[in-house]
Amino acid sequence: MQNTQKQIRTRYAPSPTGPLHMGGVRTALFNYLFSKKEKGIFILRIEDTDKARSKPEWEKDITENLSWLGLQWDEFYRQSERTAIYKKYLEQLLEQGKAYYCFCKPEELEAIRQDQLSRGVIPHYTGKCRGLGKEECESRLKKGEAKVIRFIGEKKTITFDDLIRGKISFDTELLGDIVIAKDLETPLYNFSVVVDDYEMNITHVIRGEDHIPNTPKQILLQEALGLPRPLYAHLPLLLGEDRTKLSKRHGDQSVARYRTQGYLPEAVINFLALLGWNPGTEEEIFSIEELIKEFSLERVQKAGAVFNEKRLNWLNASYIRKKSPSELTQLVMPYLPQTGLEIKKLEQIIALYQERMQNLSEIAALADYFFVEQLDYPKELLTWKNSTPRKTKEALEKLETILSAVSEKDWERDTLANILLGEAEKEKDRGYLLWPLRTALTGKQASAGPFEVATVLGKEKTLERIKEAQQKLTAI
Ligand code: GLU
Repeated sequence: MQNTQKQIRTRYAPSPTGPLHMGGVRTALFNYLFSKKEKGIFILRIEDTDKARSKPEWEKDITENLSWLGLQWDEFYRQSERTAIYKKYLEQLLEQGKAYYCFCKPEELEAIRQDQLSRGVIPHYTGKCRGLGKEECESRLKKGEAKVIRFIGEKKTITFDDLIRGKISFDTELLGDIVIAKDLETPLYNFSVVVDDYEMNITHVIRGEDHIPNTPKQILLQEALGLPRPLYAHLPLLLGEDRTKLSKRHGDQSVARYRTQGYLPEAVINFLALLGWNPGTEEEIFSIEELIKEFSLERVQKAGAVFNEKRLNWLNASYIRKKSPSELTQLVMPYLPQTGLEIKKLEQIIALYQERMQNLSEIAALADYFFVEQLDYPKELLTWKNSTPRKTKEALEKLETILSAVSEKDWERDTLANILLGEAEKEKDRGYLLWPLRTALTGKQASAGPFEVATVLGKEKTLERIKEAQQKLTAI
């Protein structure tokens, strides 16, 4: 039975057993893009039936980070609040004899498993408790014996048309009678998913390829319950640079980590959209609106998609460059010390680094010299590679004289550049003058250029730092 409803409804169904990961966001994003393109509904369903592993703090992490990324859901559900609904369907299967209570002990099951493995048979439950009489079953339930509920799936070949991977067939003979619930109040993943996908009128199940083995189980359950089959689209795996499945070994992939490091939501979205989806053009920069317009499942590839962090950095840098100075200043503010510097000044500082920042947190180390009273650097750093400490001392004296003569009014980049370049070019290698200037002002091996830094620091601070540099060298 195929779903014939008009409105497209997709869902992202994370289990709150850990922080939201980039892989999870890619799944959420493809669901979001597809439903928005089709003017449909995007659902967030928290799959927290595993009581031991699900935590409210992980749910919070998921919802907060999805919101930060702009992936706003239209409807929200939490499976732990839907127990009564699952119960109704479990009872239906039990009544129809399509499910039964199983009291087999873990040791017993393990022994069967070992026996099957030793005979080269794929481990599966053999159906021992299937034949228990109603009375025996009830008396064992009354005694409170440990149990689970198993499902008698039809034995046949299930074929489904995956929208990305084409026809996929499974022989359900090998599944055995799968466990679908611990008890009437505690359904397990495959069961609650089937009920919810139906109850929530899901038209398209778009999820990671790792769920392909679950699909035949879910289809069998749908058939047993007489429910329509949604369409399936299994997304390609995300791979690390070494082409193995992306995992913790490749570093912390939590969205929270990227967010803290100062990646912009639009860069993360743009990056993840291209992990498995091909826009069909050379274009690499897409806003969410453009993605909604362009997205199609036909352009999602089967092959795994490599998570290339360099590309993310490149995208992030390009989104940072596009920000206005005031927007960027607001964004980097949390990464800067609270010094009470006026906002205009901050904007000037940040403008110096807008072109080179790959993420927002880098500003802290790049521009720290604007926020400290006194710089701390070794005096050797002041001397240019083709120069000598003595010459550097002279250069600093010259800088002091020249710059003292520049009026506050003329203290701006082009004037400073004119005057200082004029002086520096009197010698073949102008580094003898410009290097100590830049180092005196920043205390760094590398930084923004000396004229720009001097302009932002202002006359007083610039002269103060030149004098400090001179003092460092007085010992010579
Ligand atoms: N809750 C499942 C998971 O976190 C997803 C279920 C599904 O998409 O069907 O992997």
